[in-house]
Amino acid sequence: MTRSEMLFSEAVKVIPGGVNSPVRAFGSVGETPRFIASAKGAHMTDVDGNTYLDFVGSWGPMILGHNHPAVLEAVLEACQEGLSFGAATEREVEMAELICSLVPSIEMVRMVNSGTEAVMSAIRAARGFTGRSKIVKFAGCYHGHSDSMLVKAGSGVMTGGIPDSAGVPEGCTRDTLTAVYNDLKSVEDLFAAFGSEIAAVIVEPVAANMGVVLPEKGFLEGLRKICDTYGSLLIFDEVITGFRLSLAGAQGYFGIRPDLTTFGKIIGGGMPVGAYGGRKDVMELIAPCGPVYQAGTLSGNPVAMAAGLAQLRLLRDTPDFYEDLNHTGDVFFEEMKKVLREAGKPWQINHIGSLGCIFFTKEPVSNYAQAKTSDTKAFAEYFSYMLRQGVYLAPSQFEAMFLSAAMTEEELRQVLETFQNYLKQSQS
Ligand SMILES: *Cc1c(COP(=O)(O)O)cnc(C)c1O
Repeated sequence: MTRSEMLFSEAVKVIPGGVNSPVRAFGSVGETPRFIASAKGAHMTDVDGNTYLDFVGSWGPMILGHNHPAVLEAVLEACQEGLSFGAATEREVEMAELICSLVPSIEMVRMVNSGTEAVMSAIRAARGFTGRSKIVKFAGCYHGHSDSMLVKAGSGVMTGGIPDSAGVPEGCTRDTLTAVYNDLKSVEDLFAAFGSEIAAVIVEPVAANMGVVLPEKGFLEGLRKICDTYGSLLIFDEVITGFRLSLAGAQGYFGIRPDLTTFGKIIGGGMPVGAYGGRKDVMELIAPCGPVYQAGTLSGNPVAMAAGLAQLRLLRDTPDFYEDLNHTGDVFFEEMKKVLREAGKPWQINHIGSLGCIFFTKEPVSNYAQAKTSDTKAFAEYFSYMLRQGVYLAPSQFEAMFLSAAMTEEELRQVLETFQNYLKQSQS
C-alpha cells in the first residue's frame, strides 16, 4: 500500500469522501487521490516521493508556478505583522487600487474569501440594484456552490431551474433560468418571456468548467446587447479567466465591458481570496454604503492580500508575460492536435491562451450537451497513463488543463511525447 492509499483510507473515515472538495477524490477516473506533500515551480511531489508536472495549478491560482519566491517572501513578511485584525489595513487599499487599475470595468471592488462568495454577492448586488429576482445562467457553467447557482445543467430552457444538489430547496433556484452556451436564441427566448424580471445574466466568458468551451464570435457581444435592451446587468464570472487570459481578464481579451465581475483563484496567489466589483452605481449599494448586506470576518485578510498583491504585481511587471504564456499555450495545444491527427484519433482539443482541454468525442464542442458526448472511460484511461508517467492532469473530463509560466519548453515537449506514446498503446 502506498502512503497516499493509507492516508486515503484514514481520510474517508473522518472527511466525507476523504476530501475537502469533491473532484479531488479522483472518483471519475477510478484512482486513489495522490496526497501532495509539497510543490515548487511547475512540479508537485506526493507523500510517496513521486514528482509530477502539474497541469492543475491548484485549479488555476498558480499561474507563476508553485511557491514563487516573491510571493512566498511577501506572505512570510505579512505573517510577522499579524495573521488577522478584523480591521481596515493598507494592503486592502493597495489591492483595490491595483484591481481597478488593471481591469477598466471595475470602478469599485469588495474582497471576499472564495469565488463562491464573490458570485453569491455579485448576484445579490445585481438583484438589489435592479429590484428584480431572476438570473440567467448557462448550462455547464459553474459559479460556485451557492444555492441559487446549483441548477441542473440542461434543464428545460423555458422553465425554472431544478436543483442539481440535494439540500437545495426549490425556492432557492426558482429564479434561476438556464440557457445554452453559445446560443443567443436561447437567451432571447428567456428574455422574451421574463425580460422585465431578469436582474442579470451571469456567464463564464470562456467556459472552463465543462472542459474548455470558447465563446463563439458575437456571443458575448450579443449578451451585452440583450442586457442593455432589457436593463439587466451582465456579470462576467472571471474566477478562472481573470488575470489568466490577460491582465484585464477575458473582458480585456475580447473587449467587452460587463457591469459586474467576479474573481477568485489567481487573485489570491494561492490563498483563499475572491472579489467582486464593477460599476460604481451598483457597488455603492453594498453595506455600509447602501442596503445590500455583505460581510466577512476574514475578508481582505492581510496575509492573503500580501500573496495576491505580490502575484498580481509580478504579472503586471513581467514584460510580455501574457504574450509569452498565451503563445506557449497556443503552440502546446496545437501540437497536441497534431499528435492526435497523426495517430488518427478523432478527439477534440479546445484551447485559448494557457487554458485547454481534450474532449474524447468526435463532435466539436461549443456547449454542454456536446461536451457530455465525451467518452469519460477513455478520459480515465488517458488520465491514469499520464499520471503514471508523472503528468498530473485534472482528474475529470470536464476540467481544464492550466499551463503555468514555470513550465519549460522541454517539459512540455516531453508531455507531448508521453501523449503520443499513450495514443500508440491505447485501445480507445
Ligand atoms: C472555481 C470557480 C468558482 C468557485 O470558486 P471557489 O473559490 O471554489 O468557491 C466560481 N466560478 C468559476 C468560474 C470557477 O471556476
